[in-house]
Amino acid sequence: MEQLREMLDAGFAAGCVSSFFCSTCRTAVCHNCCGQDHLARHHNGDGQIVEVTLIRNGVPAVPARAVKSRRLLGYDWRGIQRIYYQGEDWVPILRQPEPDRRSKERCRCCRDPCKKDYCCAACKRTTVTSGQARDLIEALAHTDFARARIRDRYCLVCARAFSSVHCPNHANHHHGGHGVGAGDVVEIHYGDGWFLVREDSLPEQWLDGIMVQRIDWGGQRMVPVQRRMLAVPGGPNQCLAASCEESVQNPGEACSIRCLVI
Ligand SMILES: [Zn+2]
Ligand SMILES: [Zn+2]
Ligand SMILES: [Zn+2]
Ligand SMILES: [Zn+2]
Ligand SMILES: [Zn+2]
Ligand SMILES: [Zn+2]
Repeated sequence: MEQLREMLDAGFAAGCVSSFFCSTCRTAVCHNCCGQDHLARHHNGDGQIVEVTLIRNGVPAVPARAVKSRRLLGYDWRGIQRIYYQGEDWVPILRQPEPDRRSKERCRCCRDPCKKDYCCAACKRTTVTSGQARDLIEALAHTDFARARIRDRYCLVCARAFSSVHCPNHANHHHGGHGVGAGDVVEIHYGDGWFLVREDSLPEQWLDGIMVQRIDWGGQRMVPVQRRMLAVPGGPNQCLAASCEESVQNPGEACSIRCLVI
């Protein structure tokens, strides 16, 4: 029961927003889901992790200090304007929806008012067709940093919920070589308002004698983990938790593991 409680408290129902780009994965990764040592765990220490922040109007940008100190991602960032935001200068990756009309220059690509040759990295990449790492800038420009990802995995070894997008192949990268198989990472599915896990994906003894309803979902027997946001009351049987109005299939059952260990 303690381990079940730990799983419920891992917060997988919460969305996770990434603020890092990995040059090897070529997509968003996240310290929340993967820890600080993504490069070491996933890529033998190779590659770069780049901090990305959404500045004004949700435009993704990298810190100007990161561009200055080294050739970030191997790209030549010169000629791209800086934008001041919350006490720091940022280099935008994409165009501003509302460019600063007071700027005297025009972007050589999109003609937006801007302070240098290019308003953003994407515009420079489009215009300057020579130079290194243009493919990385393209991947960066196509990464959606505003999108929250559901934490759709739970690792029984780490006792942590994470998003499979922000930490792909977790079992291999974090537990490879220690005899830990993929079965130790549980997939969390979302359907019909429920967070569900396959009955056979949890250790058998966890569910032994536990009165939680099973839901047929695409032919699989699933166990609901959390309550639904909006309960559907009025069935012949009601969830055994006094505070829950959800209908269940059999008398004496809880609608979800949450209602059992509440
Ligand atoms: Zn990576
Ligand atoms: Zn994450
Ligand atoms: Zn990871
Ligand atoms: Zn531009
Ligand atoms: Zn793990
Ligand atoms: Zn319930």
